[in-house]
Amino acid sequence: MAATTAGHKAELTRLDREIGDGDHGENLARGFHAVLAKLAGTEPATPGAVLQLVATTLISTVGGASGPLLGTAFLRAGSSLGGATEIDGPMVATALEAARDGVVARGKAEPGDKTMVDALAPAAAAARAAADGGADLVGVLAAASEAATAGAAATSPLQARKGRASYLGERSVGHVDPGARSTAFLLESLARRAAE
Ligand code: ADP
Ligand code: MG
Ligand code: MG
Repeated sequence: MAATTAGHKAELTRLDREIGDGDHGENLARGFHAVLAKLAGTEPATPGAVLQLVATTLISTVGGASGPLLGTAFLRAGSSLGGATEIDGPMVATALEAARDGVVARGKAEPGDKTMVDALAPAAAAARAAADGGADLVGVLAAASEAATAGAAATSPLQARKGRASYLGERSVGHVDPGARSTAFLLESLARRAAE
């Protein structure tokens, strides 16, 4: 995720310049770089504890609207895993549903409001469907990643109803939401790493 946000920093910043304040790439790259530094100095005992560390680090370093929202997503995903030391497909689906519910509870955006929820909600739904169909961890993440990428692209014709982009009203139409795009990048990097 750190490599992905660093690699796509310019693209995310460009998207945020179009309908926001142009800091989304910088915000995320800074946050996930800080996560790497934190992880280098400690060895969390469980995947849930890793996600919790990611959450607190993002909350204290990303800032803006996306910091607390992404932090909540990772916090809820981490809690949903409890003390488990191994993760399977259904647990990933549960974690993504928990992340989505956390972001919706915190930011009050619904699908169609042109936010990161438009990537996260379809990702959680696709993950659940894949898990119910018997997909393993790699399959569930691949389904989530694909749905998030499609969901992010589908934000372009929408008018923003939450966040900074909503100030633009109709002028927000015709641009992909940066937070939806970054959410898709994050899930894509997870899916790719799981498949390796
Ligand atoms: P800021 O807008 O404060 O500069 P960022 O640029 O880092 O913060 O993040 C902007 C992204 O945050 C948006 O593209 C959108 O996806 C997401 N966002 C903003 N408000 C909300 C909200 N209420 N619910 C969900 N996501 C939101
Ligand atoms: Mg911004
Ligand atoms: Mg900002």
